[in-house]
Order: sequence, then structure tokens, then C-alpha cells
Amino acid sequence: MAESKKHICYNCGKEEYKIIHKGVRDNDKIDVLRCSNCGLVFLSDDSHIASNFYENGGMIAGFSLENWIKNTKTDDKRRFLLLKKRIKDKIVTDFGCGNAGFLNFAKDICKKVYGIELQKDLYDYFKTCGLDVFSKISLLPEKSDIITMFHVLEHTKNPVDTLKELKPFLNKNGSIIIEVPNAKDSLISFYKCKSFEDFVYWSCHLFVFDKNTLKQTIKKAGYKIKKFSYIQRYSFMNNLYWLLKKKPGGHKIWAKYDFKAINTIYSFFLKLLGITDTMLVEIVPD
Ligand SMILES: [Zn+2]
Repeated sequence: MAESKKHICYNCGKEEYKIIHKGVRDNDKIDVLRCSNCGLVFLSDDSHIASNFYENGGMIAGFSLENWIKNTKTDDKRRFLLLKKRIKDKIVTDFGCGNAGFLNFAKDICKKVYGIELQKDLYDYFKTCGLDVFSKISLLPEKSDIITMFHVLEHTKNPVDTLKELKPFLNKNGSIIIEVPNAKDSLISFYKCKSFEDFVYWSCHLFVFDKNTLKQTIKKAGYKIKKFSYIQRYSFMNNLYWLLKKKPGGHKIWAKYDFKAINTIYSFFLKLLGITDTMLVEIVPD
């Protein structure tokens, strides 16, 4: 990447930044930058995400559908259990629904569920699940009470515009529930685990938000926060494995040591310090 290229912060417009990581896991020419003014973490280049990148399954290249569904099941179930009461009897649209893992749980308790997904080759599968999925939000036959976005916002080239575009498709009193990775993940901000950084920075994550930068993006899009929570998605054993073995997958490999009590205490402290791996926020039009 040419050193002379300008890197203006998407959030605050300043051009002061630090390179916090040289290269990302799938492209050594893209660096990870952090705005010195507002703290937004962003990539030095986003031109690799062409308009048809997600349509053609660029993100999950090399995964079979079966394995992909298996891999996301824990997250899909966690999200469903967490939001069960909130989405019951509501019209819910999952924006960027991926393999529809969440919708397949939600469809039994919601008034109606819809999905928005760009990836074309999933549509036959959606049909077998009895799901109505569209390639863009404007094709929805009705407005939604809740729009969910699980790990989608950080993939978009323009998160503010993406959020703005959803507004007309919300019912009165409707809200958007967003889950994103936390730039202050303990493995980065507290343990400073180099191998985790080499792994987690990825060309598809154009932005990595923390609580403040996420708030700024939400405000710029004309929403206010109704509820914010820190969530620890990965277990203590996963984190310990990273520190000792410098590799992912500890939550599976050391699953037999994964005691609920330890995780409860561990995530309690991570939440207290704001250094969980994930953030969940519910927003409403301002
Ligand atoms: Zn900034």
C-alpha cells in the first residue's frame, strides 16, 4: 500500500492515526489503523470489498453450508435465548441473515420473520426452511418491529448510511439490535496477545468499534441507544488457550474444563472493565 495514501477517519474526519497492526490475516497489504482522535479502528483500504463480494459468497469461501451452519449454531442459539422475550410475537427482520441460523430459531415464536441476505446461492436453502429472504430491505412486504444485525455493521463500507437506510422499514416504536465485535477485546487491550491480533484482524472487518465509536456512528445515523450491553462470546478456556497455545479453538479443545461458574465470574469482570469480545446494542430512531 502506498504510504502517501490519505486515511481520513470515517467517524470524526480527522487524519491522525496510528498503524496498530501491519497487515490482516488474509492480506498483508492492508494495515489496521486507529484514529488518534476518536479511537475508531479501520482498515487502510476497503477497495477489496467490491459491490458483488458478498453476493458471491466471498466471506465464507471454502466453507460447506453444512459446516457453516454447524459453526454458527452456538452463536445463533445464544442470540435467540438472549432475545427470546424481546422478539416474541414481533415482526423481525434479520439484516445480513447469513445461513439463517437465528431465523430458524426465531420463526417459531415471532409473528413473522424475514431475512435480508446478499449471498445468492443460499436462496434454495432458505426455501427449504420456509423462510422469506430478500436481497435488499426495500423488497420487504411490510415494516418490522425489530431489525437484527449480527456482526454485519463492521462489514459495511458505510455503516451510517446502512443504518439510515433501515429507518423507513421500522414500525412505530421499532428498534434495531446490533451485535458487533469489541475493539477493546481483552485479548487485544489487556493481554496484548500478538497471535490473537494476527488472527482477528481480517480484510472483511472494515471497522472495529468500541463503545464510544459505536455510539458516534449510531448518533450520526440519527438513532439513540435504548440499551447497551457488553457480551463475552468466548469462554475463559478459549482466552487461556490463546495465551498459552497462541491458537483459536480452546473453548472446544478444553471444553471439559469449561466450568460455568468460572465463565460467569470471568465475564463479570470483563464486562465491568468493558473489555469483552462483543457488544450488543438496541437503538431507536432519535
Ligand atoms: Zn476518528
